[in-house]
Amino acid sequence: MPETASSQAKMSDAGLSARAALLAEPDRALVCSDFDGVLSPIVPDPDTAFASEPAVHALQRLGTRVGKVAVITGRVARKAVELGGLAGREGLGAMSVLGLYGAERWDAATGEFVEPEPPEGVAAAREELPGLLQGLGLGAARVEDKRLSLGVHTRELDDPAAALARLTGPLTELAGRYGLRVEPGRNVVELRAPGRDKGDALRDLIAECDPAVVVFAGDDLGDVAAFEVVRELRASGRIEGLLVCSGSQEQDALVALADVVVDGPAGVADLFARLADDLGA
Ligand SMILES: [Mg+2]
Repeated sequence: MPETASSQAKMSDAGLSARAALLAEPDRALVCSDFDGVLSPIVPDPDTAFASEPAVHALQRLGTRVGKVAVITGRVARKAVELGGLAGREGLGAMSVLGLYGAERWDAATGEFVEPEPPEGVAAAREELPGLLQGLGLGAARVEDKRLSLGVHTRELDDPAAALARLTGPLTELAGRYGLRVEPGRNVVELRAPGRDKGDALRDLIAECDPAVVVFAGDDLGDVAAFEVVRELRASGRIEGLLVCSGSQEQDALVALADVVVDGPAGVADLFARLADDLGA
């Protein structure tokens, strides 16, 4: 991992240009963030991954100035809203949360959740999963039921990396039988219906908001698709883009793609707060 200094993180020229464009025309900016590992610290029990208050506060301040603030997450939208305490927050009245890689959505403006029915394959895999984990001697792995997907977490096991390696083959086989796809992450493998990724979700949001500047903060493999969309649209001159990597010891896939690497959720909160300072928010 490169050095990550939350207060003095180096920013690429493209990132600096996007930052200047955001400050010049904030109402044409779309600020997006992943949830876990970016707004909230990674913790053993994903049900208790509450957002860091400084990160949400910084988003609230940005929300009073920029065109749109959104969370794009692999989580169920309802859970992200709950763990983020995102409902009824000053400054976040126009926020959207795109859950399950954009399959679900919550809008602060209406308070409504859009939550489609889960595909049949997920129910079948849910049935088989406990037996499969027992058979591998990994019955203690935590299964996170995300309604449209299933996450198997190894963080709490003795050797998370070895457990993950042992799981990946059998889970890929299970996913294949039920038409699901495997999504790897930080000490987690997820089974979900094929289709949307965060890149698709972000592309839709950009089409909807027509921003001149897009900020995206992520930390994990699932964010790569969104980073690539920003890089593609930036290269074509369609938008300015600022890509923020919430750095960790566990995953460095985004480092080479990012304009700035900060030190986890605290670093993200700092960076957003400095943007808000510069906007006079
Ligand atoms: Mg994440």
